Amino acid sequence: MSESTGGTESTESVLLQQLGLRRVLNAAGALTAVGGGLLPPHVIDAMRDIGQVYVDMHEFQTAVGDRIARLTNNEAAMVTSGAAAAVAISTMTAITNGDPREVMRLSDHRAVENRVIVQHPHRSPYDLAVNLGGGRVVQIGNSYQTFPWELEGAIDDGCAMVLFVDATDMGHGGIDLETTVAIAHRRGVPVVVDAAAQLPPHTNLWRYTRECGADAAIFSGGKHLQGPQSSGLLLGTAEFISGARAQVAPYQRLARALKPGKENIAGVLAAVEHFVSRDHVAESTRWESLCANWIATLSVIPGVHATRAFPNEAGQAIPRVRVDVGSVQARDRVATALWERDPRVHVLREGDDFYLTPETLHDGEHEEVIHAVISVLTTALAAQ
Ligand SMILES: *Cc1c(COP(=O)(O)O)cnc(C)c1O
Repeated sequence: MSESTGGTESTESVLLQQLGLRRVLNAAGALTAVGGGLLPPHVIDAMRDIGQVYVDMHEFQTAVGDRIARLTNNEAAMVTSGAAAAVAISTMTAITNGDPREVMRLSDHRAVENRVIVQHPHRSPYDLAVNLGGGRVVQIGNSYQTFPWELEGAIDDGCAMVLFVDATDMGHGGIDLETTVAIAHRRGVPVVVDAAAQLPPHTNLWRYTRECGADAAIFSGGKHLQGPQSSGLLLGTAEFISGARAQVAPYQRLARALKPGKENIAGVLAAVEHFVSRDHVAESTRWESLCANWIATLSVIPGVHATRAFPNEAGQAIPRVRVDVGSVQARDRVATALWERDPRVHVLREGDDFYLTPETLHDGEHEEVIHAVISVLTTALAAQ
């Protein structure tokens, strides 16, 4: 069993067989569209353990939050049902400051301007969650540049929060986090960082908050952490997290609709405990060697050019393999043929090429993926 992907006991699913659905070999990344990640045994064990008992959910969220805060060097922490849920809850928190009277009035706030400032290079499909939280995204800057004075100018009494999105493939020409925090805090406006996919490095768990001064940082539980697919972390100051706790279940307030179950809370705690004690160097050596093997195997096929790509699509320090098959048309034929197999093989199309990543696969699956790729490449390219 590998440290990084956990269990390898079974790669079959009884339910998928009953439903007549194909399993997917996911060589594309931690993508919601194919089920997020694979749960390692320690996460499944934690979910099974808590699934057998009742507990006071206020006490449980507090105790788990305290433990996650300690593990991640933050003042406070809370488990959410995902990173997008955490964006919505952060917006509600910033609007209401956690005052229960304001929380109860949240749905009326929709008539009021609750502006959430987002720099142009930080726009993503996920900032729709700001609207879910009762805010309205106000964009500053353009795709080339955003200036500090634009942020200064945008902060007024109707401004509830600045949402800063960290994804290394985004943010070019934007204002850095330290400057953003300095400007926003001068005006008493909280800054929340959506860093859903920014692990590794594990130091990011406290960098945005403890080192850069953001009020909170958000991570997906179901991406690199390998927690339950619908789990997320909201890490930050005691004040901000206490305001966030006032929004959510077990209270019957607006964010009740974003409830993480006790199984998800226990599962992501186990994932964080495991993640911070992982041997990150050994893990990265293993990925490098898996990529090197894939490249060596693919390089003998005529017309195929396989090279190491780094960092990955989310800007993470994880190697992957870029496969150039000569044209976009050939690439699409190959990717489609891989998807149509049983089991399906999912690869990431980017630019004119496709990419294979080692980190989302069980141990035995790296071989399975490369056999499928070779089989498809030799037939698809021969048919040209
Ligand atoms: C993946 C992602 C999200 C959504 O995460 P979920 O945990 O699936 O809700 C939000 N923001 C960014 C930047 C992401 O990459």
